[in-house]
Amino acid sequence: MKGKAKSNRERKLRELVKRVWENVPHYRAKMEDVGVTPHDISTARDLWKLPFTTKEDLRNTYPSGLLACSKEKIVRFHASSGTTGKPTVVAYTRNDLQTWTDAMASCLKRAGVTSSDVVQIAYGYGLFTGGLGLHYGAEKLGCAVIPASGGFSERQLMLMEDLGTSVLACTPSYALKLSEMLQQKNKALKLRLGIFGAEPWSETLRKTLEENLKITALDVYGLSEIMGPGVAMECPAKMGLHLAQDFFLVEIINPETGQPVKEGEEGELVITTLTKEALPLIRYRTRDITKILPGKCDCGDSSTRIARIRGRSDEMLIIRGVNVFPTQVETALGKTFGLSCHYYLEVTGSEGHKDLHVYSEMLENLSPEAEERLKAKAISNLHNILGIRVELHLLPPGSIERSDGKSKRIRSTL
Ligand SMILES: [Zn+2]
Repeated sequence: MKGKAKSNRERKLRELVKRVWENVPHYRAKMEDVGVTPHDISTARDLWKLPFTTKEDLRNTYPSGLLACSKEKIVRFHASSGTTGKPTVVAYTRNDLQTWTDAMASCLKRAGVTSSDVVQIAYGYGLFTGGLGLHYGAEKLGCAVIPASGGFSERQLMLMEDLGTSVLACTPSYALKLSEMLQQKNKALKLRLGIFGAEPWSETLRKTLEENLKITALDVYGLSEIMGPGVAMECPAKMGLHLAQDFFLVEIINPETGQPVKEGEEGELVITTLTKEALPLIRYRTRDITKILPGKCDCGDSSTRIARIRGRSDEMLIIRGVNVFPTQVETALGKTFGLSCHYYLEVTGSEGHKDLHVYSEMLENLSPEAEERLKAKAISNLHNILGIRVELHLLPPGSIERSDGKSKRIRSTL
């Protein structure tokens, strides 16, 4: 069966390459540039011969230059917000939406969601893929879906209590905000599971969310360019995210050289979509840093698993020659009893000598002596995990703004 699934994936790969060669001039030109044709690709081992696709390719062909089907076949658009200028537009045919629904439903099933669950979706609905992606997957499983969307936090809590929400889906930052609000109220909730994603988060934050909300918190992975949520999902064994491998091929590359890393090493995740009709992507550079995990998951499923995303390569700070990801700072702060999970980073200095400033919030106001002790402990934990000295600034409880969506961890860089 395993061999059959593999040959099935490789057939899909050959069809994909032929399809983009025939229908997308941009891909054809890039393949011609490196002297490769569909005849050169027969198995996943040939993937390296194909050129990468990047976010710039999507921007440069805005809005529809990478479409591989006629416009009549498009039934939905989504877009991811661009930090500057135009957003990245993604398109779906009816089959693409069906695939997305199926992949998302499988992810939720893997997480332990059943038709008896009440699923509150507090991801944004709209151009962002989070809300609608989770929505159709949960509906397909037969769950009762509450399409709450993001924000209106008091109403979120009311719905949770009154409708008996058992599964909460949102960003981990927003889950943290809701959990803090809940701690001040006496609500009888039926919450048992959190499906959290759309931003990298640490084991420390998982522990905090699990304790505060009395749930199992699982990581879901996806990105709108590839489809949306549903690309990979943790199972309750929490041994990495199982990839939806009927639909995607993955590689891990060195982000600097573009070469594959050694087996099991960390690098940038590259995804090839096997089945997408409207916007197939070949070797798409996600900029997410992870690795492929060895061995089998305790759940017994032998599908490919990726480690939780350490961070995005464009969020990686290089401080005096050392690579630093916000999730590492989060881990170090989380190990320091007395600090909350709220923090942000700033980089000052000059290109040759950068300083990392960490702003971290205390759980409660302390005497000057106790604050000094806490600070020394936190600096030591940060040094152990990051390998560099940082400037730490402790802030009073509640002083860092809470996020209803993705949290902005890096406030300023050089
Ligand atoms: Zn598993």
